Amino acid sequence: MFEKVLIANRGEIALRIHRACREMGIQTVAVHSTADADAMDVRLADESVCIGPPQSRQSYLNIPAILSAATITGAEAIHPGVGFLSENADFAQMVEEHGFVFIGPKPEHIALMGDKVEAKRAAARLGLPLLPGSEGAVGSEREAAALAEEIGYPVLIKAASGGGGRGMKIAREPGELAGQFATARAESQANFGDSTLYIEKYLLRPRHIEVQVLGDGKGHAIHLGERDCSMQRRHQKLLEESPSPALNDAERARIGERAAEATRTLGYSGAGTFEFLYEDGEFSFIEMNTRIQVEHPVTEEITGIDLVREQIRIAAGHSLGLRQEDVSFSGHAIECRINAENPWSFQPSPGKVTDYHVPGGLGVRVDSALYAGCSVPPHYDSLIAKLVVSGQTRNECLMRLRRALEEFVVEGVDTTIPLHRKLIAATDFINGDYNINWLERFVEQCDERKSA
Ligand code: ADP
Repeated sequence: MFEKVLIANRGEIALRIHRACREMGIQTVAVHSTADADAMDVRLADESVCIGPPQSRQSYLNIPAILSAATITGAEAIHPGVGFLSENADFAQMVEEHGFVFIGPKPEHIALMGDKVEAKRAAARLGLPLLPGSEGAVGSEREAAALAEEIGYPVLIKAASGGGGRGMKIAREPGELAGQFATARAESQANFGDSTLYIEKYLLRPRHIEVQVLGDGKGHAIHLGERDCSMQRRHQKLLEESPSPALNDAERARIGERAAEATRTLGYSGAGTFEFLYEDGEFSFIEMNTRIQVEHPVTEEITGIDLVREQIRIAAGHSLGLRQEDVSFSGHAIECRINAENPWSFQPSPGKVTDYHVPGGLGVRVDSALYAGCSVPPHYDSLIAKLVVSGQTRNECLMRLRRALEEFVVEGVDTTIPLHRKLIAATDFINGDYNINWLERFVEQCDERKSA
Protein backbone atom coordinates (compact mmCIF):
# COMPACT_ATOMS: atom_id res chain seq x y z
CA MET A 1 0.00 0.00 0.00
CA PHE A 2 1.05 3.61 -0.54
CA GLU A 3 2.69 5.46 2.33
CA LYS A 4 1.86 8.93 1.05
CA VAL A 5 -0.84 10.27 -1.27
CA LEU A 6 -1.12 13.77 -2.73
CA ILE A 7 -4.66 15.11 -3.00
CA ALA A 8 -4.95 17.33 -6.08
CA ASN A 9 -8.18 19.04 -5.12
CA ARG A 10 -9.82 21.27 -2.51
CA GLY A 11 -12.75 21.58 -0.15
CA GLU A 12 -15.05 18.79 0.92
CA ILE A 13 -13.78 16.21 -1.59
CA ALA A 14 -10.15 16.83 -0.56
CA LEU A 15 -11.17 16.23 3.06
CA ARG A 16 -13.18 13.14 2.04
CA ILE A 17 -10.06 11.65 0.41
CA HIS A 18 -7.91 12.62 3.40
CA ARG A 19 -10.32 10.72 5.65
CA ALA A 20 -10.05 7.53 3.61
CA CYS A 21 -6.24 7.80 3.58
CA ARG A 22 -6.09 8.45 7.31
CA GLU A 23 -8.11 5.33 8.08
CA MET A 24 -5.79 3.32 5.85
CA GLY A 25 -2.68 4.66 7.62
CA ILE A 26 -1.60 6.67 4.57
CA GLN A 27 0.04 10.09 4.97
CA THR A 28 -1.57 12.94 3.02
CA VAL A 29 -0.24 15.95 1.14
CA ALA A 30 -2.66 18.81 0.49
CA VAL A 31 -1.97 21.20 -2.36
CA HIS A 32 -3.75 24.53 -2.27
CA SER A 33 -4.04 27.97 -3.83
CA THR A 34 -3.30 31.10 -1.80
CA ALA A 35 -7.09 31.52 -1.39
CA ASP A 36 -7.29 28.19 0.47
CA ALA A 37 -4.28 28.55 2.77
CA ASP A 38 -6.51 28.33 5.87
CA ALA A 39 -8.85 25.62 4.58
CA MET A 40 -9.73 22.71 6.86
CA ASP A 41 -8.56 20.09 4.37
CA VAL A 42 -5.17 21.82 4.29
CA ARG A 43 -4.99 22.04 8.09
CA LEU A 44 -5.79 18.36 8.56
CA ALA A 45 -3.34 17.04 5.96
CA ASP A 46 0.06 15.83 7.15
CA GLU A 47 1.82 18.20 4.77
CA SER A 48 0.73 21.01 2.50
CA VAL A 49 2.19 22.83 -0.49
CA CYS A 50 0.97 26.11 -1.95
CA ILE A 51 0.78 25.67 -5.72
CA GLY A 52 -0.29 29.08 -6.92
CA PRO A 53 -2.68 32.02 -6.88
CA PRO A 54 -6.47 31.67 -6.54
CA GLN A 55 -7.29 31.26 -10.24
CA SER A 56 -7.74 27.51 -10.89
CA ARG A 57 -5.74 27.70 -14.08
CA GLN A 58 -2.69 28.74 -12.08
CA SER A 59 -3.22 26.41 -9.13
CA TYR A 60 -5.58 23.40 -9.16
CA LEU A 61 -5.15 23.01 -12.93
CA ASN A 62 -1.41 23.76 -12.85
CA ILE A 63 0.05 20.35 -13.72
CA PRO A 64 3.79 21.22 -13.35
CA ALA A 65 3.14 22.73 -9.89
CA ILE A 66 1.20 19.64 -8.76
CA LEU A 67 3.85 17.22 -10.03
CA SER A 68 6.58 19.30 -8.35
CA ALA A 69 4.64 19.19 -5.07
CA ALA A 70 4.45 15.39 -5.37
CA THR A 71 8.18 15.19 -6.04
CA ILE A 72 9.31 17.39 -3.17
CA THR A 73 7.05 15.69 -0.64
CA GLY A 74 7.83 12.16 -1.81
CA ALA A 75 4.20 11.25 -2.50
CA GLU A 76 3.74 7.99 -4.39
CA ALA A 77 0.25 8.48 -5.74
CA ILE A 78 -2.06 11.34 -6.71
CA HIS A 79 -5.83 11.41 -6.16
CA PRO A 80 -7.51 13.95 -8.47
CA GLY A 81 -10.90 14.10 -6.69
CA VAL A 82 -13.75 15.49 -8.82
CA GLY A 83 -13.70 18.35 -11.32
CA PHE A 84 -10.35 20.09 -11.99
CA LEU A 85 -7.95 17.46 -13.46
CA SER A 86 -9.98 14.37 -12.57
CA GLU A 87 -11.06 13.62 -16.14
CA ASN A 88 -7.97 14.94 -17.90
CA ALA A 89 -6.34 11.97 -19.66
CA ASP A 90 -3.13 13.95 -20.34
CA PHE A 91 -2.77 14.62 -16.63
CA ALA A 92 -3.28 10.95 -15.77
CA GLN A 93 -0.65 10.06 -18.38
CA MET A 94 1.84 12.63 -17.08
CA VAL A 95 1.36 11.47 -13.50
CA GLU A 96 2.32 7.94 -14.57
CA GLU A 97 5.23 9.17 -16.73
CA HIS A 98 6.67 11.00 -13.76
CA GLY A 99 6.67 7.80 -11.75
CA PHE A 100 3.58 8.39 -9.62
CA VAL A 101 0.41 6.33 -9.50
CA PHE A 102 -2.77 7.99 -10.73
CA ILE A 103 -5.69 7.02 -8.47
CA GLY A 104 -8.22 6.53 -11.22
CA PRO A 105 -8.71 4.58 -14.42
CA LYS A 106 -6.21 4.19 -17.24
CA PRO A 107 -5.65 7.32 -19.36
CA GLU A 108 -7.14 5.60 -22.44
CA HIS A 109 -10.42 5.00 -20.63
CA ILE A 110 -10.57 8.61 -19.45
CA ALA A 111 -9.92 9.78 -23.04
CA LEU A 112 -12.47 7.36 -24.50
CA MET A 113 -15.29 8.45 -22.17
CA GLY A 114 -14.25 12.13 -22.28
CA ASP A 115 -15.21 12.27 -25.95
CA LYS A 116 -18.95 11.74 -25.81
CA VAL A 117 -19.22 10.68 -29.44
CA GLU A 118 -16.61 7.99 -28.87
CA ALA A 119 -18.20 7.11 -25.54
CA LYS A 120 -21.53 6.40 -27.24
CA ARG A 121 -19.81 4.27 -29.86
CA ALA A 122 -18.09 2.33 -27.10
CA ALA A 123 -21.39 1.94 -25.23
CA ALA A 124 -23.01 0.53 -28.37
CA ARG A 125 -20.16 -1.99 -28.73
CA LEU A 126 -20.61 -2.89 -25.07
CA GLY A 127 -24.26 -3.62 -25.71
CA LEU A 128 -25.67 -0.74 -23.68
CA PRO A 129 -28.97 0.76 -24.84
CA LEU A 130 -28.72 4.16 -26.57
CA LEU A 131 -31.16 6.90 -27.54
CA PRO A 132 -31.95 7.24 -31.23
CA GLY A 133 -29.44 9.71 -32.65
CA SER A 134 -26.39 10.28 -34.80
CA GLU A 135 -23.92 7.42 -34.94
CA GLY A 136 -20.99 9.77 -34.71
CA ALA A 137 -20.32 13.48 -35.07
CA VAL A 138 -22.70 15.54 -37.17
CA GLY A 139 -20.72 17.70 -39.61
CA SER A 140 -23.25 20.13 -40.99
CA GLU A 141 -26.57 21.74 -40.38
CA ARG A 142 -28.03 19.88 -43.37
CA GLU A 143 -26.91 16.55 -42.03
CA ALA A 144 -28.40 17.49 -38.65
CA ALA A 145 -31.73 18.44 -40.22
CA ALA A 146 -31.97 15.19 -42.15
CA LEU A 147 -31.19 13.18 -39.06
CA ALA A 148 -33.66 15.10 -36.91
CA GLU A 149 -36.42 14.33 -39.45
CA GLU A 150 -35.51 10.67 -39.17
CA ILE A 151 -35.48 10.41 -35.38
CA GLY A 152 -38.31 12.91 -34.89
CA TYR A 153 -38.48 16.19 -32.97
CA PRO A 154 -37.64 17.34 -30.36
CA VAL A 155 -33.90 16.66 -30.64
CA LEU A 156 -30.96 17.64 -28.48
CA ILE A 157 -27.76 18.98 -30.03
CA LYS A 158 -24.84 18.12 -27.76
CA ALA A 159 -21.14 18.98 -27.64
CA ALA A 160 -18.77 16.00 -27.89
CA SER A 161 -16.54 17.70 -25.29
CA GLY A 162 -19.41 19.03 -23.17
CA GLY A 163 -19.69 18.62 -19.43
CA GLY A 164 -21.25 20.04 -16.30
CA GLY A 165 -24.60 20.33 -18.04
CA ARG A 166 -23.25 22.84 -20.56
CA GLY A 167 -23.11 22.61 -24.33
CA MET A 168 -26.64 21.35 -25.01
CA LYS A 169 -29.31 22.95 -27.21
CA ILE A 170 -32.87 21.73 -27.84
CA ALA A 171 -34.54 22.00 -31.25
CA ARG A 172 -38.27 21.45 -30.71
CA GLU A 173 -39.26 21.75 -34.36
CA PRO A 174 -37.61 21.96 -37.79
CA GLY A 175 -37.66 25.78 -37.76
CA GLU A 176 -35.41 25.85 -34.68
CA LEU A 177 -32.74 23.47 -35.91
CA ALA A 178 -30.46 25.78 -37.91
CA GLY A 179 -30.29 28.44 -35.22
CA GLN A 180 -29.72 26.00 -32.37
CA PHE A 181 -27.09 24.10 -34.33
CA ALA A 182 -25.13 27.30 -35.03
CA THR A 183 -25.38 28.42 -31.38
CA ALA A 184 -24.31 25.00 -30.10
CA ARG A 185 -21.34 25.01 -32.46
CA ALA A 186 -20.20 28.50 -31.41
CA GLU A 187 -20.68 27.84 -27.67
CA SER A 188 -18.94 24.50 -27.84
CA GLN A 189 -15.93 26.03 -29.60
CA ALA A 190 -15.79 28.90 -27.09
CA ASN A 191 -16.24 26.73 -23.96
CA PHE A 192 -14.43 23.54 -24.82
CA GLY A 193 -12.14 24.47 -27.75
CA ASP A 194 -13.88 21.80 -29.82
CA SER A 195 -16.91 22.34 -32.04
CA THR A 196 -17.74 18.65 -32.60
CA LEU A 197 -21.49 18.09 -32.16
CA TYR A 198 -23.82 15.11 -32.10
CA ILE A 199 -27.56 14.69 -31.95
CA GLU A 200 -29.91 12.56 -29.95
CA LYS A 201 -33.62 12.29 -29.29
CA TYR A 202 -34.68 14.75 -26.58
CA LEU A 203 -36.73 13.01 -23.91
CA LEU A 204 -39.50 15.08 -22.37
CA ARG A 205 -39.81 13.57 -18.90
CA PRO A 206 -36.94 11.18 -18.15
CA ARG A 207 -35.31 10.41 -14.86
CA HIS A 208 -31.54 10.48 -14.51
CA ILE A 209 -30.47 7.10 -13.16
CA GLU A 210 -26.80 6.22 -12.82
CA VAL A 211 -25.02 3.04 -11.82
CA GLN A 212 -21.89 3.00 -9.65
CA VAL A 213 -19.30 0.45 -10.74
CA LEU A 214 -15.90 -0.74 -9.52
CA GLY A 215 -13.45 -2.65 -11.70
CA ASP A 216 -9.91 -3.84 -11.08
CA GLY A 217 -8.77 -4.04 -14.70
CA LYS A 218 -7.99 -7.70 -14.09
CA GLY A 219 -11.29 -9.16 -15.14
CA HIS A 220 -13.32 -8.38 -12.03
CA ALA A 221 -16.07 -5.78 -11.88
CA ILE A 222 -19.15 -5.20 -9.75
CA HIS A 223 -21.94 -2.69 -9.51
CA LEU A 224 -23.09 -0.95 -6.34
CA GLY A 225 -26.61 -0.16 -7.35
CA GLU A 226 -28.09 3.00 -8.76
CA ARG A 227 -28.56 6.61 -7.76
CA ASP A 228 -31.50 8.72 -8.84
CA CYS A 229 -30.19 12.18 -9.74
CA SER A 230 -33.29 13.58 -11.39
CA MET A 231 -33.48 16.56 -9.03
CA GLN A 232 -31.60 19.00 -11.27
CA ARG A 233 -31.48 22.65 -12.16
CA ARG A 234 -29.83 23.72 -15.41
CA HIS A 235 -28.79 20.07 -15.77
CA GLN A 236 -26.90 20.32 -12.47
CA LYS A 237 -27.75 17.83 -9.74
CA LEU A 238 -29.02 19.20 -6.42
CA LEU A 239 -30.32 16.16 -4.51
CA GLU A 240 -29.62 12.47 -5.09
CA GLU A 241 -31.08 9.32 -3.63
CA SER A 242 -30.56 5.59 -3.62
CA PRO A 243 -32.37 3.37 -4.33
CA SER A 244 -34.40 5.18 -6.98
CA PRO A 245 -38.10 5.34 -6.09
CA ALA A 246 -38.85 4.77 -9.80
CA LEU A 247 -37.28 1.34 -10.33
CA ASN A 248 -38.51 -2.10 -9.41
CA ASP A 249 -36.09 -4.82 -8.30
CA ALA A 250 -35.96 -6.50 -11.71
CA GLU A 251 -35.08 -3.23 -13.50
CA ARG A 252 -32.51 -2.45 -10.84
CA ALA A 253 -30.79 -5.80 -11.20
CA ARG A 254 -30.91 -5.65 -15.00
CA ILE A 255 -29.25 -2.25 -15.38
CA GLY A 256 -26.73 -2.98 -12.62
CA GLU A 257 -25.63 -6.22 -14.23
CA ARG A 258 -25.32 -4.61 -17.65
CA ALA A 259 -23.13 -1.84 -16.24
CA ALA A 260 -20.93 -4.32 -14.38
CA GLU A 261 -20.60 -6.44 -17.52
CA ALA A 262 -19.59 -3.36 -19.56
CA THR A 263 -16.98 -2.46 -16.91
CA ARG A 264 -15.56 -5.99 -17.09
CA THR A 265 -15.44 -6.05 -20.89
CA LEU A 266 -13.73 -2.65 -21.01
CA GLY A 267 -11.04 -3.86 -18.60
CA TYR A 268 -11.82 -0.72 -16.60
CA SER A 269 -10.03 -0.15 -13.31
CA GLY A 270 -11.22 2.02 -10.46
CA ALA A 271 -14.54 3.67 -9.68
CA GLY A 272 -16.82 4.79 -12.49
CA THR A 273 -20.41 5.73 -13.17
CA PHE A 274 -22.63 4.86 -16.10
CA GLU A 275 -25.28 7.53 -16.55
CA PHE A 276 -28.64 6.69 -18.12
CA LEU A 277 -31.90 8.43 -18.83
CA TYR A 278 -34.92 6.36 -17.87
CA GLU A 279 -38.36 6.84 -19.36
CA ASP A 280 -41.28 4.42 -19.82
CA GLY A 281 -39.30 1.48 -18.49
CA GLU A 282 -36.38 2.00 -20.90
CA PHE A 283 -32.80 2.96 -20.03
CA SER A 284 -30.61 4.93 -22.45
CA PHE A 285 -26.89 5.46 -21.88
CA ILE A 286 -25.83 9.13 -21.97
CA GLU A 287 -22.28 9.11 -20.63
CA MET A 288 -19.74 7.53 -18.31
CA ASN A 289 -17.88 9.45 -15.62
CA THR A 290 -14.42 8.05 -15.03
CA ARG A 291 -13.93 9.30 -11.48
CA ILE A 292 -15.49 9.35 -8.04
CA GLN A 293 -18.68 11.41 -8.09
CA VAL A 294 -19.97 14.10 -5.76
CA GLU A 295 -22.99 11.93 -4.91
CA HIS A 296 -20.99 8.77 -4.08
CA PRO A 297 -21.91 8.92 -0.34
CA VAL A 298 -25.50 7.77 -0.93
CA THR A 299 -24.11 4.53 -2.36
CA GLU A 300 -21.71 4.20 0.58
CA GLU A 301 -24.58 4.64 3.02
CA ILE A 302 -26.67 1.81 1.60
CA THR A 303 -23.80 -0.60 0.91
CA GLY A 304 -21.39 0.21 3.76
CA ILE A 305 -18.53 0.24 1.23
CA ASP A 306 -15.97 3.06 1.32
CA LEU A 307 -15.63 3.91 -2.37
CA VAL A 308 -12.53 6.08 -1.99
CA ARG A 309 -10.78 3.30 -0.09
CA GLU A 310 -11.65 0.92 -2.94
CA GLN A 311 -10.24 3.41 -5.47
CA ILE A 312 -6.97 3.58 -3.53
CA ARG A 313 -6.73 -0.21 -3.12
CA ILE A 314 -7.30 -0.79 -6.83
CA ALA A 315 -4.75 1.89 -7.80
CA ALA A 316 -2.24 0.19 -5.50
CA GLY A 317 -2.63 -2.95 -7.59
CA HIS A 318 -4.96 -4.98 -5.38
CA SER A 319 -7.59 -7.16 -7.00
CA LEU A 320 -11.17 -6.31 -6.24
CA GLY A 321 -11.78 -8.16 -3.01
CA LEU A 322 -15.53 -7.88 -3.34
CA ARG A 323 -17.72 -10.18 -5.40
CA GLN A 324 -21.17 -9.13 -6.50
CA GLU A 325 -22.74 -11.44 -3.93
CA ASP A 326 -20.76 -9.69 -1.17
CA VAL A 327 -22.57 -6.42 -1.87
CA SER A 328 -25.77 -6.09 0.10
CA PHE A 329 -28.08 -3.13 -0.13
CA SER A 330 -29.83 -1.92 2.95
CA GLY A 331 -32.13 1.02 3.62
CA HIS A 332 -32.36 4.33 1.85
CA ALA A 333 -30.06 7.36 1.56
CA ILE A 334 -30.51 10.92 0.31
CA GLU A 335 -27.87 13.59 -0.30
CA CYS A 336 -28.60 17.33 -0.36
CA ARG A 337 -26.00 19.50 -2.00
CA ILE A 338 -25.49 22.62 0.08
CA ASN A 339 -24.13 25.27 -2.26
CA ALA A 340 -23.08 28.81 -1.35
CA GLU A 341 -25.59 30.48 -3.59
CA ASN A 342 -28.93 32.23 -3.52
CA PRO A 343 -31.47 29.40 -3.29
CA TRP A 344 -33.88 30.98 -5.82
CA SER A 345 -31.64 32.76 -8.32
CA PHE A 346 -28.71 30.34 -7.85
CA GLN A 347 -26.33 33.32 -7.91
CA PRO A 348 -23.04 32.37 -6.19
CA SER A 349 -22.67 33.80 -2.70
CA PRO A 350 -19.02 33.73 -1.63
CA GLY A 351 -17.92 35.34 1.64
CA LYS A 352 -17.09 34.69 5.27
CA VAL A 353 -18.99 32.02 7.16
CA THR A 354 -19.88 33.76 10.41
CA ASP A 355 -21.70 30.90 12.13
CA TYR A 356 -21.77 27.17 11.42
CA HIS A 357 -23.54 24.29 13.10
CA VAL A 358 -23.96 20.85 11.56
CA PRO A 359 -26.78 18.42 12.30
CA GLY A 360 -25.92 15.04 13.81
CA GLY A 361 -27.50 11.95 15.28
CA LEU A 362 -28.21 8.50 13.90
CA GLY A 363 -28.06 8.27 10.12
CA VAL A 364 -26.78 11.80 9.56
CA ARG A 365 -23.47 12.47 7.78
CA VAL A 366 -22.08 15.83 6.73
CA ASP A 367 -19.17 15.94 4.29
CA SER A 368 -17.76 19.46 4.40
CA ALA A 369 -14.54 21.36 4.98
CA LEU A 370 -16.39 24.38 6.38
CA TYR A 371 -15.88 25.89 9.84
CA ALA A 372 -17.12 29.05 11.55
CA GLY A 373 -14.91 31.93 10.47
CA CYS A 374 -13.69 30.33 7.23
CA SER A 375 -14.02 31.99 3.85
CA VAL A 376 -15.83 30.67 0.80
CA PRO A 377 -13.67 32.00 -2.04
CA PRO A 378 -15.38 33.26 -5.22
CA HIS A 379 -13.07 31.37 -7.57
CA TYR A 380 -14.42 27.84 -7.36
CA ASP A 381 -17.48 25.61 -7.50
CA SER A 382 -20.11 26.71 -4.97
CA LEU A 383 -20.58 23.29 -3.28
CA ILE A 384 -19.68 23.76 0.41
CA ALA A 385 -21.30 20.79 2.15
CA LYS A 386 -23.14 17.55 1.50
CA LEU A 387 -25.80 16.47 3.93
CA VAL A 388 -26.26 12.72 3.59
CA VAL A 389 -29.06 11.10 5.55
CA SER A 390 -29.93 7.42 5.71
CA GLY A 391 -32.76 5.37 7.18
CA GLN A 392 -34.16 1.86 7.09
CA THR A 393 -36.92 3.00 4.74
CA ARG A 394 -37.36 6.01 2.44
CA ASN A 395 -39.98 7.33 4.83
CA GLU A 396 -37.64 7.17 7.81
CA CYS A 397 -34.95 8.80 5.70
CA LEU A 398 -37.30 11.67 4.80
CA MET A 399 -38.33 12.27 8.41
CA ARG A 400 -34.69 12.35 9.47
CA LEU A 401 -33.73 14.62 6.59
CA ARG A 402 -36.45 17.08 7.57
CA ARG A 403 -35.13 17.47 11.10
CA ALA A 404 -31.47 17.48 9.95
CA LEU A 405 -32.17 20.38 7.58
CA GLU A 406 -33.89 22.21 10.45
CA GLU A 407 -30.73 21.91 12.56
CA PHE A 408 -28.27 22.99 9.85
CA VAL A 409 -26.94 26.52 10.40
CA VAL A 410 -24.71 28.34 7.92
CA GLU A 411 -24.57 32.11 8.40
CA GLY A 412 -22.73 34.77 6.41
CA VAL A 413 -23.32 33.31 2.95
CA ASP A 414 -26.56 32.35 1.19
CA THR A 415 -27.07 28.60 0.80
CA THR A 416 -29.45 26.15 -0.85
CA ILE A 417 -30.68 24.93 2.58
CA PRO A 418 -34.00 26.86 2.38
CA LEU A 419 -34.70 25.33 -1.04
CA HIS A 420 -34.01 21.82 0.26
CA ARG A 421 -36.35 22.41 3.21
CA LYS A 422 -39.13 23.36 0.79
CA LEU A 423 -38.57 20.73 -1.82
CA ILE A 424 -38.49 17.78 0.55
CA ALA A 425 -41.93 18.87 1.82
CA ALA A 426 -43.43 18.82 -1.68
CA THR A 427 -45.97 16.04 -2.24
CA ASP A 428 -44.38 14.95 -5.54
CA PHE A 429 -41.02 14.48 -3.87
CA ILE A 430 -42.53 12.64 -0.92
CA ASN A 431 -44.24 10.32 -3.42
CA GLY A 432 -41.01 9.88 -5.37
CA ASP A 433 -42.82 11.26 -8.38
CA TYR A 434 -40.42 13.63 -10.17
CA ASN A 435 -38.32 13.80 -13.33
CA ILE A 436 -35.41 15.96 -14.51
CA ASN A 437 -37.71 18.95 -15.21
CA TRP A 438 -39.51 18.97 -11.87
CA LEU A 439 -37.12 21.17 -9.88
CA GLU A 440 -36.97 24.04 -12.40
CA ARG A 441 -40.77 24.32 -12.28
CA PHE A 442 -40.82 24.06 -8.50
CA VAL A 443 -38.26 26.86 -8.10
CA GLU A 444 -40.28 29.08 -10.45
CA GLN A 445 -43.42 28.48 -8.39
CA CYS A 446 -41.60 29.26 -5.14
CA ASP A 447 -40.23 32.43 -6.68
CA GLU A 448 -43.66 33.54 -7.87
CA ARG A 449 -45.05 32.99 -4.40
CA LYS A 450 -42.15 34.95 -2.92
CA SER A 451 -42.72 37.97 -5.15
CA ALA A 452 -46.55 37.83 -4.85
P1 ADP B 1 -22.99 16.62 -18.80
O1 ADP B 1 -21.74 15.87 -19.08
O2 ADP B 1 -22.91 18.04 -19.20
O3 ADP B 1 -23.48 16.41 -17.40
P2 ADP B 1 -25.02 14.71 -19.77
O4 ADP B 1 -25.02 14.08 -21.11
O5 ADP B 1 -24.64 13.86 -18.60
O6 ADP B 1 -24.11 16.02 -19.81
O7 ADP B 1 -26.45 15.32 -19.48
C1 ADP B 1 -26.72 16.12 -18.35
C2 ADP B 1 -28.21 16.21 -18.11
O8 ADP B 1 -28.87 16.75 -19.27
C3 ADP B 1 -28.88 14.88 -17.86
O9 ADP B 1 -28.81 14.50 -16.53
C4 ADP B 1 -30.31 15.22 -18.28
O10 ADP B 1 -30.93 15.97 -17.26
C5 ADP B 1 -30.12 16.13 -19.47
N1 ADP B 1 -30.13 15.38 -20.76
C6 ADP B 1 -29.05 14.85 -21.39
N2 ADP B 1 -29.41 14.22 -22.53
C7 ADP B 1 -30.75 14.34 -22.63
C8 ADP B 1 -31.74 13.89 -23.58
N3 ADP B 1 -31.39 13.21 -24.68
N4 ADP B 1 -33.04 14.20 -23.34
C9 ADP B 1 -33.41 14.90 -22.25
N5 ADP B 1 -32.53 15.35 -21.32
C10 ADP B 1 -31.22 15.09 -21.49
